[in-house]
This record gives sequence, C-alpha cells and structure tokens, in this order.
Amino acid sequence: MFKKILIANRGEIACRVAATARRMGIQTVAVYSHADIHAKHVALCDEAIAIGPAEARQSYLKIDHIIAAAKAKGAEAIHPGYGFLSENEAFAAACEAAGLVFIGPPASAIRAMGSKSAAKALMETAAVPLVPGYHGEQQESDFLQQQADGIGYPVLLKASAGGGGKGMRIVERSEDFAAALASCKREAINSFGDDKVLVEKYLLKPRHIEIQVFADTQGHCVYLFERDCSVQRRHQKVLEEAPAPGMTAERRRAMGEAAVAAALAVGYVGAGTVEFIVHQDGSFYFMEMNTRLQVEHPVTEMITGTDLVEWQLRVAAGERLPLLQDELTLEGHAIEARIYAENPEKGFLPSTGDLLHLRLPEAVQFMNGDVRIDAGVREGDAISPFYDPMIAKLIVRGKDRSQALARMRQALAAVEIVGPSTNVGFLSRLIQSAPFAQADLDTGLIERHHTALFPPAQALPLAVLALAAGKLILNPATRIQDPWSATSGWRMNGHYTRMLNFHDATQDESDDTQLSLTYQSNGALLRCGHAEALLTQLRAVGDRLHLLMDETQVEGHVLRVADTFHVFYQGSHWQLNWRDPIAHAGETEAEGGRLTAPMPGKIIALLVAVGASVEKGAPLLIMEAMKMEHTIHAPTEGTVAELLYAVGDQVAEGAQLLSFASAEA
Ligand code: ADP
Repeated sequence: MFKKILIANRGEIACRVAATARRMGIQTVAVYSHADIHAKHVALCDEAIAIGPAEARQSYLKIDHIIAAAKAKGAEAIHPGYGFLSENEAFAAACEAAGLVFIGPPASAIRAMGSKSAAKALMETAAVPLVPGYHGEQQESDFLQQQADGIGYPVLLKASAGGGGKGMRIVERSEDFAAALASCKREAINSFGDDKVLVEKYLLKPRHIEIQVFADTQGHCVYLFERDCSVQRRHQKVLEEAPAPGMTAERRRAMGEAAVAAALAVGYVGAGTVEFIVHQDGSFYFMEMNTRLQVEHPVTEMITGTDLVEWQLRVAAGERLPLLQDELTLEGHAIEARIYAENPEKGFLPSTGDLLHLRLPEAVQFMNGDVRIDAGVREGDAISPFYDPMIAKLIVRGKDRSQALARMRQALAAVEIVGPSTNVGFLSRLIQSAPFAQADLDTGLIERHHTALFPPAQALPLAVLALAAGKLILNPATRIQDPWSATSGWRMNGHYTRMLNFHDATQDESDDTQLSLTYQSNGALLRCGHAEALLTQLRAVGDRLHLLMDETQVEGHVLRVADTFHVFYQGSHWQLNWRDPIAHAGETEAEGGRLTAPMPGKIIALLVAVGASVEKGAPLLIMEAMKMEHTIHAPTEGTVAELLYAVGDQVAEGAQLLSFASAEA
C-alpha cells in the first residue's frame, strides 16, 4: 500500500479522502490555493503545499504545479477527487509520465468516455441499450434536423463534450430545431471548446438511475447496485438515494450487467458510474459514464457497508477488489441531500459569504452510523465565488425508505447556518413533499411541483416573535436583566409597554411586524395584530431560549448578528431585522453617560428608586418618543440621588431626568 498520497482537490471530497487515508495509515499531502490557506482540508492532511492563486485555473487545474507538489513532497500517488482534474486525460497521462500513480482509470478509458458521442458508439458495439438518436460525425444543421424529424419530437440536443447539465436543449418542434441547434453549439464551444452535438429522443417523465461499478487491474469488475438521482434542478442532482424505489431484482441485475459491460468495453479500472435514463416502464438506456468517484457515492457506501475510497486506494496499489459480485449485499435505504450556499427562491442562484454560524446534526464521520455528514467547511470559513458553493452533504440510512426519510427530516431540522443563503429550507420541503415521500420520482419533479415547493411567505409566527423579543431582552448588550423574573423596579410604576418592530429579512416587499410587550406582574403580554399571548419563564439554557407562551413550551435557538435575529425554531430558520433606530442612540448615550432626554417625549417607566445603588450600565428609566422607547442607563457605578420626573410626565429635549451620584466621585 502507498505510504503517502497527494490529494489534488479541496473541500468535502478532499476531507473525505484524507479521513480514509488516515484510517489506513497513509500519509496525506493537501494542495491549496491562496484562498484556502486556512481551509479544513489543509488542516486535516499531514502536510500541505500551496499551488497558486484562488482562481482554479491557476491552482487546482494546474497540472504541472500539482505534479511538482507531489514530487516535492515525495507522494507516490495522486487522488483527484471529483471535478477539477478528475476526468482530465492529460492529467492522468502526466501522472504516469512522472512516475506517479493516478488513483483513477487509465487515460485511455477517460478518453473513451470523455465524448458522449464516441462513448455511445462504443456502447453500441458492446450491446448496451442506447436512447434512440444520432451520435455520428455529421454535424450539418439540415442533416441533424432530418435525424431529429426521424426520431420524433421532443428531442434533446447535447454537447458531445458536455457535462454538468450544460449545453443541453430540448426541442419540441421541427420549426425550432435550427435555432436550438445554433444556441446549443454556441454554449458548447464556449463551455467546452468543442461544438459537436448529438441528438436523442427526449424521454418524458424519465428517471435518472446510475450504477456504481468498480474494476481492478486483475480483470475483476463488479457493480455495487444503483442510485436514483432523479430529483434534479436544471439537470443537476439535488437528492440521491439507494436503492432506487421500485427496482426489481431482475432489472437490477440487467442494469448492473449492462454497466459492467460498458466498463469492460473501455478497459476500466477503479471507481466509475454508468448513468442510465430510465422510462417509467422500466426500460433503460445508457447516457454516459463518469470515470471517477461521484458526489453521491456515500449512499452506496451506506447500503453496501463499503468504503469506496479505500477500494480506490487498494485497486490503485494493485490489490484485488475487496469483494466480488456474489459477496456484495445491499441492506437498508440511504438518502443524500446536498446542502448548498444558494438561493432557491431566486432561481437557485449561488450565494457567498462567511459561515458565521454552522451547526450540523450529530453524526459519525464515515462508517457505521445512520447519519453522516461530509463537510469541507467549518464555522468561520467563507463560501467564496471561486469554487463550488457546496457546504455539506447530509447522508442518512434507515432500515427502509420511510425510516431514512424520517431521519433525513430530523437531520435537516438540526442544521443551522447563518451567513450565505442556503437551500436547507427548500430541501426540507422537498423531502416532505407528497411526490418525494411517495417515491413518485422523475427528473421533472421539482419543476412540476414548483408551486407546492415554493409556498407564499408565511406571516412571522407568534412563537418566533416571542423568541426574538426574548433574545432582545436577555441580551446583555441591552443591559436589562430578565424582566419577567425581576422583582422591584419593573413593576413599581405599573405596567410598562415596549414596542418592537421586526421585518422578515427574507421578504423584501413585506411590511414590518409591529408587536408590543407589556410587562405585568404575571409575565409579559405579547400583542401582535389581533393575536396575544402571555410570556413567562423566559430563560437561556445553553444556547437555547426557553419560554412559556400561554400554556405552550417554546424552545429555539436565537442568534443575533447586529440587528438581525436568526431564529431557529421547529426546523425552520427565520431572519428578523429589528428596526429600532432609537436603541442605537441609547447605546452611545450609556457610554457618554448623559442623564438628559435625547429628544422630547414622555417618561414611561422608572426602573430604580431613590437611594438605589446601581452598576454601571444599569437601566434607570425608560422614556418614549415617536412611539419608540429609549432607555437611560447609569453612566458609572453609583447611587440614584433624585428622580426629577414621574411616570407619565412630558419632558423636553435636553431636560435633566435624574440626579446621580457616581461612586467614583
Ligand atoms: P451531463 O453530462 O451534462 O450531466 P447527462 O447526459 O448526464 O448530461 O444528462 C443530465 C440529465 O439530463 C439527466 O440526468 C436527465 O435528467 C436529463 N436527460 C439526459 N438525457 C435525456 C433524455 N434523452 N431524455 C430526457 N432527459 C434526459
């Protein structure tokens, strides 16, 4: 086995490879761009080496820098992860030329599968079923249109060199063909430097089912069953699961054998995935083969009890496959959800920013657990515009699909992320949606159920408002002790009402939500519109807030970032902007120690009695101006000498409100 390998990647896959290598006693070398100097994958590896600026083209895609790094550190092999150079034939060849083992298939297999057209031609000779279509050399518009007419509409145009869902066009009618072809070719040349296209029948309501294959250098090739990746947005996977719902043993064997035939046809070695497009009637057709480990490989590991990175390392070191076909078994059901920094409400646009708060559910890192987290970032890291905006993958296993679903729902509810926008709320709705729960899967699921998956914004629930208000009151910055359990001051002068304005930060257009809190002897009365509830027993337990809202226990986590309150309550994340400009005036006031009215208004509460000794910053009195409250704080430690106004009195701007004897004086 290797003593030292270099991991030519970053993020979650680099961390995942490092973990297996460590378990196997193999030393690891990380590579990093300038943007990743403090990244998790760098910290996880035994050694690290810089390979260039943040732009991937100048670092993670620089073949010569990576080879030189491996040489400099004395690594014997390179794991390419996925993305970046993982399917780059020149990189595989360069490794070989430098005397390094490329942990992946031979360069010739990457080349054979690199072009969708050439791969389809090869598969045809290996008798692997293909979607009806044309994948030949002729590229004239008229000729391709004739082919499309012959296949029958709708057809799908694909860039032969394509990937990641790019360069695909659905054509519904012959009249639209020429324009769609021109646009497909434009995108293909821009994205892949090659404008060759293929045409195939566009299947309606198809499923995406792929087979994990593995081959060694000793002539063995097996399939590790299937993954269903039908839940997609813009032809990109969102949820993946194994096994595929509704799969029969015969069809599993037929697809597995077809996938093995595909791998054998190109002299495959290592981990690969053969993707099939599957008709609702169960008939399946080869789409393409990915000559690397896939993002969604953990669901296969979960149901087969294998570590596919370990398999990759063993095979690359010349060992036999750890298990042969008749030793492989499938148990339970696994689902993976990809957590992205993105904005599903705005067309899934990627989002960037610092991960100010990152809480993921309790999980075991790799094997033997029912919940697994593969994350490449830690709290405090940035999601930068340079790389894939994935935050983490959440993978769960159950004894059957419904148990896996329940675990996924629970695990997602435990995720808390503050910083960039994320798809966590969307994923929760998706896994709980009727079509997904009932396994009524096809690649159009998200689009077809768009209305249900993107429900109109809800009004802020009273419990969420209560938690935000509770946090505000308990926040040491406001220097008010828990008023709901406080004795004297608060009630001495009768009921005091505090007005609070919150705005749902995720809703640009919505109105502010105004609420009032009236402190009474038995608690605080929260009023919002026509709703009201008595809040009692507010307390912080660890980082969670507990309170009683009438008879209901309310518990949540509230994180305050400046004037935004992030409320995590019952699996949802609410973002409330607190609109309280006068509060800011109050803050400077306390520091400056003025005991005068900052504006004309009315005294609404006296919080101390004459003779009271107070700490610096203690709230002394509250006045109201422009329907907002303003708290006057003690400028230093000292004693209240005289109160100059009573509750209800009007005061002019600049009026002295009380006299105060500082302890220092
Ligand atoms: P890429 O390499 O860009 O990911 P694929 O060929 O793997 O492209 O196709 C990506 C997705 O596009 C599939 O998962 C499926 O949803 C859809 N798709 C591909 N071919 C067809 C087809 N013939 N009919 C219907 N949908 C298709």
